[in-house]
Amino acid sequence: MKYKQLIFDPEKKDRLKDFDPAYCGDYKDKDDAQDDLKKGVKKLSELQEKLYASDRHALLIIFQAMDAAGKDGTIKHVMSGVNPQGCQVKSFKVPSAEEMDHDYLWRCNKALPERGNIGIFNRSYYEEVLVVRVHENYLLDEKVPQLEKKLKDGKIWKERYTQINHYERYLTENGTRVLKFFLNVSKEEQKQRFLDRLNDPSKNWKFSLRDCKERQYWNEYMRAYEEMLIHTSTREAPWFVIPADHKWFMRAAVCQIIVDQLNAMGLKFPVLSTEMQAELEEAKKMLNAE
Ligand code: ATP
Ligand code: MG
Repeated sequence: MKYKQLIFDPEKKDRLKDFDPAYCGDYKDKDDAQDDLKKGVKKLSELQEKLYASDRHALLIIFQAMDAAGKDGTIKHVMSGVNPQGCQVKSFKVPSAEEMDHDYLWRCNKALPERGNIGIFNRSYYEEVLVVRVHENYLLDEKVPQLEKKLKDGKIWKERYTQINHYERYLTENGTRVLKFFLNVSKEEQKQRFLDRLNDPSKNWKFSLRDCKERQYWNEYMRAYEEMLIHTSTREAPWFVIPADHKWFMRAAVCQIIVDQLNAMGLKFPVLSTEMQAELEEAKKMLNAE
């Protein structure tokens, strides 16, 4: 699958409206994409073993999306073959009182993957320029210093974009690759999925009235997403805008991009030193002599 057009390129003056949420790429149908996903899941599992064994790099995968876009399902399907020991998922909700008492990167920093591991952020510090931008009053609880002044000239958002870009560069330079997915669902498809959650008893538990209320801010969210994409899609950590109206396309695309990123890291199993090899020989002799 070719996915270059899914990268948000601010240099090319990309706009969110130019990304079609229903795009299906070259896939003939759902089965075609599911075959690809199956192969991708297997490759991902092999690459993750190398990542773990070489113990030099970490991979941080960030998912951002509107409600019901399919973050949970994508994580579940794409990571289904990965050894749970080398992979952690962290979901970020409304910050707790303790989290509010720190800078906004604090809680994310604590959840970063260690070397050799894959870390998945289900929502992330990007909420700080999304939901918080749509509901500026949340900043009051965050106790941001000089808030009034920073809000007046809009400086707070530029400041945050810069902080995030610096943070991601720091992570990249220190061995953590940052991979960012915006799952781009259409407003119509979101409505359909909310209705499914209401009509199907086995999906009722997924429904939240809060999600329905947030939907009323759809345009404000899209503006916040676009601004975020423009200011934080960088060379070292570009944003991938993944069409999310067809779940099968979304999953196959995300899986392939992760596989390609891991491949690009040039991961190798560690080569044993001559001393270690001599130790293996000695151990073999000991066991054979029993
Ligand atoms: P799901 O609904 O599939 O369980 P979810 O990620 O939507 O997953 P919820 O518990 O429904 O989980 O929602 C988490 C909420 O927390 C979201 O509405 C999100 O915008 C909000 N949130 C996350 N980070 C922050 C933040 N820094 N400030 C304010 N709200 C936040
Ligand atoms: Mg939710």
